[in-house]
Amino acid sequence: MSNISRRTALKALGTGGAISAAALSGCATVSANHAPGNATAMPFNVAATTIPIHGSAEVFPVRRIYCIGRNYAAHAREMGSDPTREPPFFFQKPTDAIQYVAPGQTVNHPYPPLTKNYHYEIELVAALKSGGRNISIDDALKHVYGYALGLDMTRRDLQRAMGDEKKPWEIGKSFDQSAPIGPIHRVGTVEHFSQGRIQLLVNGVVKQNADLNQMIWSVAEQISRLSAAFELMAGDIIYSGTPENVGPVVRGDVMVGKLAGLPDISVKVV
Ligand code: MN
Repeated sequence: MSNISRRTALKALGTGGAISAAALSGCATVSANHAPGNATAMPFNVAATTIPIHGSAEVFPVRRIYCIGRNYAAHAREMGSDPTREPPFFFQKPTDAIQYVAPGQTVNHPYPPLTKNYHYEIELVAALKSGGRNISIDDALKHVYGYALGLDMTRRDLQRAMGDEKKPWEIGKSFDQSAPIGPIHRVGTVEHFSQGRIQLLVNGVVKQNADLNQMIWSVAEQISRLSAAFELMAGDIIYSGTPENVGPVVRGDVMVGKLAGLPDISVKVV
């Protein structure tokens, strides 16, 4: 339905005119989420963010990046909180924080500005093909399209400083290229991940080494909890939280992330 005919339809509604449900539902064919008006031409283009899908000619369109904070007890403790008293929580990164890391390659990752304590966090990432509100734990995994291995890169000094001042710690988490990620592997080509070794190596030395079964909230619980706070949609991805032993990298360091069942990701800080 064009904007003009939609406006006419709404005007008809406002004056008590009859309008069919079918006519209104036609609005759903407009894919862009924009304010009312006639204009559809744009003064410039904004690139869409996508992630390659393993074994497919298609790419996964990213809508939102959700992240889980303190989803492993030992990491919660190293961050100064008590996992028996404080549950995991959510934050977001901007969609275009994605940096794709192709398997078999070492991708250059720029050391970001303003920080002197730049940390890795290796994480399982779940990618959704559908969503909703108040999704039950039992139904949650039906919404998962696939999985990837990602890094939730963190300007730890800025995150801590803002937290100490009770200010939003967005600047520590939600910056350019802060979300390196490998290709998405579709459910069916991989199983749902509830266990398995997850590791992060720096220059060949194991730094993080844990099992996904140590997550406080499983992927199904993450989806269920998130959907109580936000309407989840196709294209949303969820960084599942990192295990303990996060730490710093400097220029020249090479980080390799490993998760049983997915290809390694390799990132060089430059
Ligand atoms: Mn994280």
